Amino acid sequence: MNGTAFFLAVNFIIAISFSLVFGVVSTRSRSRTSALWFAAGFAVASLSALCELLVAYTNLTRFWAIAAFATVLAGMILLRGGIGEHYGRKIDPLKAICFLVSGTVLDVLIYDLPRGTALHAFSYQAPFALVIFTSAVAVYSSTRRLMIDRALGFLLLVTSLHFLAKAGVAILAGAGSNAKDYIHTNYGLISQSSTAVLVVAVGLMLLSVLVLEIMADERSNSEKDSLSGLANRRGFENGVKAAITLAPNERHALILCDLDHFKRINDTYGHHGGDMVIQAFSDLLRASAATSAVVGRIGGEEFAVFMPNSTSEIAALFAQNLRSRTMGLAISVLPSSLTVTASFGVAEFATGEKLDIAMRDADAALYEAKRSGRNCVRQARQAREPAAIKAIKINAGAEPGDFETR
Ligand code: GH3
Ligand code: MG
Ligand code: MG
Repeated sequence: MNGTAFFLAVNFIIAISFSLVFGVVSTRSRSRTSALWFAAGFAVASLSALCELLVAYTNLTRFWAIAAFATVLAGMILLRGGIGEHYGRKIDPLKAICFLVSGTVLDVLIYDLPRGTALHAFSYQAPFALVIFTSAVAVYSSTRRLMIDRALGFLLLVTSLHFLAKAGVAILAGAGSNAKDYIHTNYGLISQSSTAVLVVAVGLMLLSVLVLEIMADERSNSEKDSLSGLANRRGFENGVKAAITLAPNERHALILCDLDHFKRINDTYGHHGGDMVIQAFSDLLRASAATSAVVGRIGGEEFAVFMPNSTSEIAALFAQNLRSRTMGLAISVLPSSLTVTASFGVAEFATGEKLDIAMRDADAALYEAKRSGRNCVRQARQAREPAAIKAIKINAGAEPGDFETR
């Protein structure tokens, strides 16, 4: 088998395989449309390898040669469409079709020009280089700035330049006297083997972009509580770790909240009624906490708020505010006579300490709040003594700041 024909067959298999993989990825990806564009792009481009073989082994040379050109160009335009979708740089379908038609017309016009001349070689490669170049620009100009995005942009730039380099090779090494000759030339071998390498590289890079996005989505879902939309315990712990690394100060505060007599709410209004209370309290936490805070539902009716760069005193004031607003929660499906209350335990901890220890302190303070009759805020003593509770009594009806040391 001729070397170029071998690489044409390889390129066909590679492109078809990528098309299938992107089809599968589209069923899992948030960027479904992009994955489908990529699947279509690789499927259409794969036809080009078949057309090139038909150029060599049938008599419809001109037709198949132009079809080979048009299918590669169409495949690349489809890839550009997928990249545009993903990177927020969509293409105008009409312009894309016009570009495909004019590129193909250009190919028809230069078809009879002597091969290996600068005019033929550059005119042939320029449309490919241009589409891939605009894909690189779409990636670079987008707001997505991950390492993988940078790598994809760079690879597209290299791929775009490689088409111009191919024109150079065609001029220097000769591209055969006619389209049928192409398959027997060194140029054909260089062209198809370099295409194989770049198709694999671009395909894998595009795949990585989508797979990394799927993995990030899965991680985010696994860290989220579906009822409240808040972070679950794992999400909360990871959120705290991330917030600490961003915090300029070393002192932080933690609040644990637990709805009071929640079992009674469930028993009286049913599980659905209880769920509505959890949602309403979660919304209150979300709306009240600062954007730098991390809020999580860490258990059934238990919540946590991490306040970076804060003190126990500030957190206690905030908790007191939450406590009074909880009493004012109105839940549409439940009778207005229901007053929801919650108890709060506040602890402080410093960067470098274990979150577990602060959790234990806040939990001890929360336990003290429950023991003191619920619907109140308690602060853990800052010294790490077992179950040490700073004896600050916050009266059930007190407003923020109305602390009275006991
Ligand atoms: P305390 O004031 O001491 O905290 O009493 P409590 O009744 O709130 O606490 P307890 O731990 O006895 O009961 C908590 C209840 O929360 C038991 C459980 O069935 C309920 N619960 C846990 N998760 C959910 C949930 O997702 N939805 C609903 N509706 N109830 C839940
Ligand atoms: Mg409770
Ligand atoms: Mg509880």
